[in-house]
Amino acid sequence: MASDVTSGARLIDGVALARELRAEVAADVAALHERGVTPGLTVVLVGDDAASAVYVGAKEKASREAGMAGDTIRLPASTTQNALLALVETLNGDPSVHGILVQMPLPAHIDPDAVITHIRPEKDVDGFHPVNVGKLLIGHTDGFAPCTPSGVQHMLARYGVETRGADCVVVGRSTIVGKPMAALMMQSGSGADSTVTVCHSRTRDLASHTRRADILIVAAGRARMITAGMVKPGAVVIDVGMNRIADASTRSGTRLAGDVDFDAVRKVASLITPVPGGVGPMTIAMLLRNTVRAAQRTLDA
Ligand code: NDP
Repeated sequence: MASDVTSGARLIDGVALARELRAEVAADVAALHERGVTPGLTVVLVGDDAASAVYVGAKEKASREAGMAGDTIRLPASTTQNALLALVETLNGDPSVHGILVQMPLPAHIDPDAVITHIRPEKDVDGFHPVNVGKLLIGHTDGFAPCTPSGVQHMLARYGVETRGADCVVVGRSTIVGKPMAALMMQSGSGADSTVTVCHSRTRDLASHTRRADILIVAAGRARMITAGMVKPGAVVIDVGMNRIADASTRSGTRLAGDVDFDAVRKVASLITPVPGGVGPMTIAMLLRNTVRAAQRTLDA
């Protein structure tokens, strides 16, 4: 596995891992082609949020590169909730569509929960439907877990991190990252079995928790909030954060930064993800994997 040991922690190379994972997905797709099935991911984008358009474009490109059918349906911001639900209904009934992803955030007049609960759980490759959320918590493996925390768990496994019995501290309790991350790590079984603490904005003395972590996973959306003094020497540090900060040395005047003060923390940690190039690339790779699983399950059903 690619690594850099010149100063402190070994780097987790999310780009290389995601490439590996996408190659595995492409092999699974080829096997499905032989059985007459082309896995299909349909992404629905409502409105013209610039960041969402970039994510959606990347998802479509990645699914096509893996040999899947990747469609994007672009709807105007004025689309009504009923019209969106009707589209989801159509996609639910379309056998060529194995995965449905409605890109968030939606315009303010549409209730995201109404849309998410309308997607058939078997096609909810984002893993946000309450049925999939429940399966994750129970420990059933026939649902879909959200892509970013699944990507983190995959990284830990591929880098041989011992999770069993480890103190795992998750900073952040969002529905898309923090809560499912905690749920994954607390399950019994391989890649999990950790003792999990979840911290959030109301946590008293955050550092007293983070300093105990063998595995520290940060998803707070606060640039460089985790400093070296908050990290136990030798800890594994996973930085989910993606924050745009000012940087006069770049052409755009900004750059991407994680939630971890990378330069300082890498001197203390044993293994660390950079931003960019860490968790980010894993998310789309896991989305492709979930879509292939959805297609495989239609054959097994
Ligand atoms: P949310 O804003 O939904 O959640 C942030 C969480 O962090 C909340 O639970 C909040 O607590 C907690 N938090 C905020 N400030 C602090 C603090 N000072 N101390 C302790 N906890 C704090 O964000 P997301 O979970 O959606 O995303 C988190 C970060 O991860 C963002 O930077 C986002 O861009 C990035 N991200 C990256 C992805 C990737 O693919 N790499 C995918 C998804 C997200 P409370 O609940 O009390 O408000």
